[in-house]
Amino acid sequence: MARPVLLIEDNEQNRYLATFLLQQQGYTVVAAHDGASGIDAARKHLPCVIVLDIQLPAMDGYAVARALRRIDALRDIPIVAVTSFAMTGDREKAIAAGCHGYIEKPINPDTFVASINSFALPGHATEAATRIT
Ligand code: MN
Repeated sequence: MARPVLLIEDNEQNRYLATFLLQQQGYTVVAAHDGASGIDAARKHLPCVIVLDIQLPAMDGYAVARALRRIDALRDIPIVAVTSFAMTGDREKAIAAGCHGYIEKPINPDTFVASINSFALPGHATEAATRIT
């Protein structure tokens, strides 16, 4: 069974759009609304990639990334940060927290899934995505 994409995003509209785009390309999507439930979902589902909003309630995305990186079973799962902060240094902060990549909001429907494909672990949902495309 294909490993899902884990989407950690507190905004319903953003969750809806990202889920729609990923499902359209053959991914299974597991969504979490905050960092704590996202970390639980990561342990449970071992996703092929984690799409991580940086602006989250309680625990921000940087803290979530650092926490994920401390869990041995999850250490190799790519994390793609998504942020609307248009400030210099965000990319560096995301990488320093353990993210592999960085996407700026608003997400571009024409390039979002290709970006996620480029980070997702091979041999899982990406194969389905390639077939459908
Ligand atoms: Mn947010």
